[in-house]
Amino acid sequence: MAEAPATGNVRKLIDDPTFPTQWTVVEEHLGHKVLRKEGESKELNVHGYAVGVDFDICIADGICITVCPTNVFDRMDIPSEQARMDNGTLNDSGKALLAIWKADPAREQDCIFCRACEIQCPVQAIKITEP
Ligand code: SF4
Repeated sequence: MAEAPATGNVRKLIDDPTFPTQWTVVEEHLGHKVLRKEGESKELNVHGYAVGVDFDICIADGICITVCPTNVFDRMDIPSEQARMDNGTLNDSGKALLAIWKADPAREQDCIFCRACEIQCPVQAIKITEP
């Protein structure tokens, strides 16, 4: 049975003024940081610093990949999500089932800060932070 949708309490990276400077860097992945907010982030954390993508909220609709003029994003497969998908588990956005891939800001150094991805993302999983 599917979990109940999250209502009214979906955390939004875009509204969090502490991101990225006050978040814990847990690892580096393909040249970008992976960050988490202790006590709030879920298991997949946020990939990217200048182009932060909350992997627990990303619904993998791919609009950021489509609109990005500098090809910042790659699809990153998350095979471990398959079992939970099979159980009908909802994404933390509360708006979709889990997805087996996420939009990874693999080339965030190429970002020109146009904010097209941030504006277009239907679940506000992306936050752009200019240096
Ligand atoms: S802000 Fe613009 S250039 Fe930067 S990742 Fe988003 S769409 Fe690409």
